[in-house]
Amino acid sequence: MNHLRHLPLLLLIVVSAVSARAVTTPKEHFGFAIGDDYHLATFTQTEAYFKKVAAESDRVVLVDIGPTEEGRRQPMLIVTSPANHAKLERYRQISQRLARAEGLNDAEARALAEEGRAVVWIDGGLHANETVGTHQLIESVYRFASATDAVTQRILDDVIILFTHCNPDGQELISSWYMRRPVPEERFFDLQPRLYHKYVGHDNNRDFFTMAMKESSNINRQLYVDWLPQIVYNHHQSAPPGTIISGPPYRDPFNYVFDPLLVTSIDAIGAAMNNRFHAEGKVGIAQRRGAPFSTWWNGGLRTTPYFHNQIGILTEIVGNPTPMDIPLLPERQIPSGDLPAPVAPQRWHYRQSIDYSVSANYAILDYASRQRDHLLYNIYLMGKASIKRGSRDHWTLYPSRVDAMRKAYEADRRTAPAAAPDASERFAAYNAPGIPPEYFAHLQKPEQRDPRGYILPADQPDFPTAVAFINMLIKGGVAVERATTDFTVNGKTYPSGSYIVRTAQAFRPHILDLFEPQDHPNDFLYEGGPPIAPYDSAGWTPAFLMGVRFDRILDGFEGPFVRLPWGEIQAPPAGRIAGAGRGGFLIPPGPVNTFKLINRALAAGLEVHRFASASGSANALTPGTVFIPAQAGAENLITAAAAELGLAVQAVDQPPSGQRVKVSRPRIALWDVYGGSMPSGWTRWLLEQHGFAFDLVYPGQIDAGALAGRYDVLILPSGAIPLPRALGGPPAPRSSYVLRTPRREDLPEEFHGLLGSFSEEKTVPALRAFTEAGGTIVAVGTSSQLAHHLNLPVKNALVELTPDGREQRLPREKFFVPGSVLRAKVDPSQPAAWGMTADVDIYFDNNPVFRLTPAALVEGVKPIAWFDTPRPLRSGWAWGQAYLDQGILAADLPVGQGTVRLLAPEVTFRAQPYGTFKLLFNTLLRHDPAR
Ligand SMILES: [Zn+2]
Repeated sequence: MNHLRHLPLLLLIVVSAVSARAVTTPKEHFGFAIGDDYHLATFTQTEAYFKKVAAESDRVVLVDIGPTEEGRRQPMLIVTSPANHAKLERYRQISQRLARAEGLNDAEARALAEEGRAVVWIDGGLHANETVGTHQLIESVYRFASATDAVTQRILDDVIILFTHCNPDGQELISSWYMRRPVPEERFFDLQPRLYHKYVGHDNNRDFFTMAMKESSNINRQLYVDWLPQIVYNHHQSAPPGTIISGPPYRDPFNYVFDPLLVTSIDAIGAAMNNRFHAEGKVGIAQRRGAPFSTWWNGGLRTTPYFHNQIGILTEIVGNPTPMDIPLLPERQIPSGDLPAPVAPQRWHYRQSIDYSVSANYAILDYASRQRDHLLYNIYLMGKASIKRGSRDHWTLYPSRVDAMRKAYEADRRTAPAAAPDASERFAAYNAPGIPPEYFAHLQKPEQRDPRGYILPADQPDFPTAVAFINMLIKGGVAVERATTDFTVNGKTYPSGSYIVRTAQAFRPHILDLFEPQDHPNDFLYEGGPPIAPYDSAGWTPAFLMGVRFDRILDGFEGPFVRLPWGEIQAPPAGRIAGAGRGGFLIPPGPVNTFKLINRALAAGLEVHRFASASGSANALTPGTVFIPAQAGAENLITAAAAELGLAVQAVDQPPSGQRVKVSRPRIALWDVYGGSMPSGWTRWLLEQHGFAFDLVYPGQIDAGALAGRYDVLILPSGAIPLPRALGGPPAPRSSYVLRTPRREDLPEEFHGLLGSFSEEKTVPALRAFTEAGGTIVAVGTSSQLAHHLNLPVKNALVELTPDGREQRLPREKFFVPGSVLRAKVDPSQPAAWGMTADVDIYFDNNPVFRLTPAALVEGVKPIAWFDTPRPLRSGWAWGQAYLDQGILAADLPVGQGTVRLLAPEVTFRAQPYGTFKLLFNTLLRHDPAR
């Protein structure tokens, strides 16, 4: 530590100690102490408190980081010593420069690390029903604004803390819901009527590379563009049963694109946290395989930092303002590396959880203070290593390649296998013979080098979606270049305006992750045993799911490229109307944005057509091509929409010949449920974004016949329809976030209309009646199991024959595809798939897969989407994928006058698979023969 640097600070500390006495305590402000039983603060109260503390303390600056989805403002409190505040911009620049690691040599980086301050993100409230998160945030802000002890002072000198509220809307909902009962002992905070994030509830922690939601965009702006903290601590709840809190280190697998220094840095902070807890006598701390959390997946507030060389920390703690009990689990009473100090069963009060959380914050901040220059220098080292890997030939080690190496050796081996080492020997592992070193070349095949960069051509069919993907990279802190003129790389010419993403940059892991397949290891409890489910998805590659066209460039390349400013969002190039025809406008069906234009035109009362087929036409059109005849208001609307949406419109004198249909807006109902459904919420957001009008309907309303005559289309998102009881389905399905069945007497009357749940006795007949009368049901994801309830002519394709000739579902040991990207075939000549290409990447999470029965063939049912290969895996993990071959994913099945459209994959999953949105959107337009 530099003593000279601290001399002037001592004077300032005296000043701040004086002002610290003026900081209002939480009890003075809220009327109760944080952690008091039966008391929660609302966001309105919390926001007022943050403003008060910021006004009272010279250690605190309150920053508005952006709007929430419900229109509140999201606060971040920058807390550090007054002396650091005076040089805050300088410290922010140092943090940025070291994280990006560009234009620095080691000596310069060391000097910056010595001068700089560690930057640590500590948040709360992301998952609003995990109420410890917001309340420890309030308590911690107060402590660091007011405490005058030596440790706090030292932390404030060395560290810039970004205390951030992650979900203001959710805190307002949950706390108001809990506190609405005047008698404290009668308060409860479950059974809330809707999701604690307007659209996505708990999935607000699944949005951190997509950033569809405003809060994730606000947060990522701070994390990856503005501040680039070295540590990101994301608070959650609850701990695994029989423990108090779980945290770092985390279990394997970690992701193969990480820098090893990142992985061991997580370990180091884990050790610091565990040590502090144990030194304070705080027990029940679980880590590694003591909890389900791995570091494999990208997309969470804690995990996306890993792909930016930032140390992401997640803890999950018990706690409830209503006192609770810590249960006795025999297996959690044996001390182990996963749980060094077991906790005895006991009554547990909210304040204890606040104390644990504040200790966790102190552990991390004390570590950051003591390791300040190391943290700053190490993020530079990781960034530097990334730049180096992206500047020369480099091979990421993937399990499938190691497998291929092993198989190559086994295929070459002519002699009998070497005797296996005696497993009974204590040091058997040390006697492993290995394979000849020349096989290492299998891990470094020239064609398997990591790309030096990616080119996204500007002339691809859906460039606006490619730009949306580029914006995900830019908002994620990645440097992107754009070509200023046409150029040629590897003999291929690309147009001006194409985007280039080089991997020689600090956040290379994030780039590889968004473009390349995730190669998840085969992870089993034991050889031949059941698979261990990943913490979240196994594969997600957004470039695949969005249908982006790009080229992987394996060698260094140059061109007329300019680098875009950090964080500068791109708009698609303004589309325009080509040609001077006066008969109408042709719009291609490929871009997802075309649906926005269609909906704007229909909302304005314009007549809109689509070409069902153009066979025989001289200038063949893609089925689904939009034609808007010349009419009053059309040109203005189309000109504006094409410009904004980046659509290429052609003005023609005469529409091409071919069969046309007239497009209109059906009356759409979207299923939801009391407490809220995340798949429904994501769908709701997508429909709003693309201009579809709809109503929400709830199970009780469906059962009561609310659909009849009022809607034309009902969307059943994943989770609406369980497997039939006869096929092993659950007895009483309900929202995964409403753990008790809501009773009318517990709820305000305004919510009674939302109650009800699916039942085979009432819901199935109501759905059947709706379709028989001419309605369309689009059954998405797991809700495609509706086919079994309605006895439609399909069967489960994922079965095997028992020795006695019966069909049974494939067991997990044989078939397991947890959240992965698979390749499917579609038939773009069918209206459901208009505008799609014949090959599409889908998101599949152990979803239903069907085969048609002979009855379906008799009825002329044609599949819309299906698997046509025994190896459809593109990204993730697909154990037993050969069973998928020829399985049907989408089909229209007639029921009376109506139709059930099965869309078995997760076609709208977390707003990510742009490539399959059309399967839903096409269903939400009505196509009648044009007259
Ligand atoms: Zn959580």
